[in-house]
Amino acid sequence: MDWRHLSANFAEIYSRIAQAAEAVDRDPASVTLIAVSKTFPVDAIRAAYDLGHRHFGESRLQEALPKIEALPEDIVWHFIGKLQSNKAKRVAQLFDVIHTIESEAQLKEIAKAGRRVDALIEVNVANEAQKSGIFPVALDLLHAKLLDFPQASFRGLMTIGPATDNPEEMRPIFRKLREENARLGGQWLSMGMSGDFEVAIQEGASHVRIGTALFGAR
Ligand SMILES: *Cc1c(COP(=O)(O)O)cnc(C)c1O
Repeated sequence: MDWRHLSANFAEIYSRIAQAAEAVDRDPASVTLIAVSKTFPVDAIRAAYDLGHRHFGESRLQEALPKIEALPEDIVWHFIGKLQSNKAKRVAQLFDVIHTIESEAQLKEIAKAGRRVDALIEVNVANEAQKSGIFPVALDLLHAKLLDFPQASFRGLMTIGPATDNPEEMRPIFRKLREENARLGGQWLSMGMSGDFEVAIQEGASHVRIGTALFGAR
């Protein structure tokens, strides 16, 4: 397939990131764009890499493995999918950042990986049933547990948020995540996807996770 349109897509997203950041007097360079490459082939990632992009997000270990093996070592791989405990050790060996910590069982497995990873706790801010992430009420306990595992460096919080067509509906959720993150001393804040990343940046996101708007519909 031909990935020439990627260059224009990246340019447009970077310009929207800059506008959103500048609107609230933030430095656009304080926002890291994670290109979510799940379901897209190695060719697409390599095309983005050749444009200078280095941060990529994947959701499934099995799918990511051959991509990580095929691509250059200076890529920063972000794990953003549901993390089963029995895969957490392998994920920690392959990925640099894990955005989806939600249990002590995961941390125990990560501790066996033999290397250090950056870790974010995934919070289900809106307390939605059957959604990934821990409820806000459980956050302090898991945060305290995380600090017992030097192999997982606490960096901050992550959220996905309810599906909505109106990004403004996400604002109170992003704001709440930022407040919790500040309370815990987190430096990173992973929030915002193709449909709502501008609002997330206005509310303090340090990492936005964007798939569709860069690579196209899945
Ligand atoms: C797929 C995915 C994204 C990217 O979503 P888009 O709407 O395609 O930008 C971001 N975060 C997580 C956790 C995802 O699973």
